[in-house]
Amino acid sequence: MTDIIQLLPDHVANQIAAGEVVQRPASVVKELLENAIDAGADEIKLVIKDAGKTLVQVIDNGKGMSVTDARLSFERHATSKIKTAEDLFQLNTKGFRGEALASIAAIAHVDLKTKRPVDELGTAIEIEGSTVKSQDIAVTPTGTSVAVKNLFFNIPARRNFLKSDTVELRHITDEFHRVALAHPNIAFAFYHNGSELFNLPKENYRQRVVHIFGNKTNEKLVPVEEETEVLKISGFVGKPEYSKKTRSEQFFFVNQRFIKSPYLNHAISAAFEGLLKDGYHPSYFLNLSVDPKTIDINIHPTKTEIKFDDEHTLYAILRSAVKHSLGQFNIAPVLDFEQQSDFNTPYSYKNKAGKTPTIEVDQSFNPFADDSGSSKSVDSRTNYKSPPTANWESLYVGLESKSNNGQRDEVDFNFEQDHNTETIFSDTSVETSKTTFQLQQKYIVSTLKSGMLIIDQNRAHQRVLYENFLKHMTIKEATSQQLLFPLELGFTPNELKIIMDLREDLEHTGFVFSNVTKETLTVTGVPVGVPESEVSIILEQLISDVEHDVPDANFSAADLLAKSMAKSLAIKNGQTLKNTEQEHLVNSLFACKEPNVSPTNRPTFITMSTDDIEKKFV
Ligand code: ADP
Ligand code: MG
Repeated sequence: MTDIIQLLPDHVANQIAAGEVVQRPASVVKELLENAIDAGADEIKLVIKDAGKTLVQVIDNGKGMSVTDARLSFERHATSKIKTAEDLFQLNTKGFRGEALASIAAIAHVDLKTKRPVDELGTAIEIEGSTVKSQDIAVTPTGTSVAVKNLFFNIPARRNFLKSDTVELRHITDEFHRVALAHPNIAFAFYHNGSELFNLPKENYRQRVVHIFGNKTNEKLVPVEEETEVLKISGFVGKPEYSKKTRSEQFFFVNQRFIKSPYLNHAISAAFEGLLKDGYHPSYFLNLSVDPKTIDINIHPTKTEIKFDDEHTLYAILRSAVKHSLGQFNIAPVLDFEQQSDFNTPYSYKNKAGKTPTIEVDQSFNPFADDSGSSKSVDSRTNYKSPPTANWESLYVGLESKSNNGQRDEVDFNFEQDHNTETIFSDTSVETSKTTFQLQQKYIVSTLKSGMLIIDQNRAHQRVLYENFLKHMTIKEATSQQLLFPLELGFTPNELKIIMDLREDLEHTGFVFSNVTKETLTVTGVPVGVPESEVSIILEQLISDVEHDVPDANFSAADLLAKSMAKSLAIKNGQTLKNTEQEHLVNSLFACKEPNVSPTNRPTFITMSTDDIEKKFV
């Protein structure tokens, strides 16, 4: 028998390595930006076409390469950044594996142009799938330009696997944010299909954060500074009242490298303990500097994870630094009468002398809006032409009036003794038939001829709302309720883009927008029954859903929107429902096309036959 083991040819080895390094256009963006930074550039331009599927180009004014280096840079394990294995323990550069360019050249068409400051003329190299097509002397400015075209041209399976342009562009933007945030002293520009998405001058860190996340961010930031022997921290955390439902504003940089660390994230959450509402996440933009010897960044090919020698100490320092800042900048919880006062005293307040409380005025409170708002929805309810089973909207009326009273949270903590506050419903007198009852403010139990029906109130209501929103969107006609005072909401350019992509569908549910600027959106009308106070929550939830459901090519914006709004607006578990409301909900559920499951395909109800029950008694 002959021997059967062979060495893989280089281009095959490179393609395999490429699978690890390059998952999508955003990976190319990351590698090229990092190379430009390692080359000492202070101006970097990123040019993208078709979300990177057609072109990713990075142009820098860094130190460039000699003719030989230019050619060598595409060889595997070719790097100028480490010479010995020991160098690995004192990394000050982003790259060190010498794999990126070789991998990228194996799966794309690459044009490189580069020139060192000392040279008169530069070098141009064209490579396609690891094969050098041409190499010339070129007239080119000092620095390097790498253009990566037709990514995955020779791996159709990978190319087909790419998501829609929206999704791929979002990944690229995320990568760009991370690199740009880590290097405020470098100027960055970012163009997509010819339009400028970012133009960031050299600036300080605060300006960089604000430039990327929008002007409104400025007022949210609380500085965090700490220096100990093992760790230096600088950066910002967001004030608790600006916390978000998404984790989109959480950034750790270790030695100017973006990392993900659930453990350190926990340290921040611990520092915010008692200051955040359930389900909300703090924003942070924190730079940690540690001795490169004490970390290991070599454990993951895309290098977003990191191992620290002494995690516990870092955790403790980080938590106390953040707590200290929150205390120092007087971030007290907003007066909140529903919670026990000793429940959420931040640590730095425990030992402080008392302070005269300040009064928070709810500027959006408008006594007129309250009346007109609810009477409008009541009107529209009586005009509602569908069969009586569909007057689920009455479920909102209570919500709405309550929230306008500035007691929104009460809805969620609506325990039985609160019954006397529930006089908002016009039809209170109809409490006669007791065919349903509520279990644990979570389930509605009803009798059937042959047994018993148990409905999950939240899921059932989601189903009802979902079908209703979808209907409005498809027939493109919805009743809108005009706001007395237009609502101006602030978003990041990125978030605004998500909303604008869905604008048409949103308008078909009844939203009316006017005056869209780069960072704000004015809402002048909302779907009937949607309380004004819920508007920003709905839109935030929507953004988060779009960001996290990673919609692919065949996703329907309308469907996602309907689901997201249904989720935001459905009655929650823990909410007491009057008998009439319970019955409305049951009837509306069974008037649905698909009553059995929630919009996310979970069961809305279960039944138990008398047989089942009898079996339990044997
Ligand atoms: P690594 O960054 O891990 O060293 P790469 O494959 O990304 O590996 O790059 C290989 C080498 O090519 C680098 O070590 C560097 O010497 C050179 N290089 C790559 N990009 C640039 C650039 N933009 N400017 C100057 N040199 C570069
Ligand atoms: Mg590199």
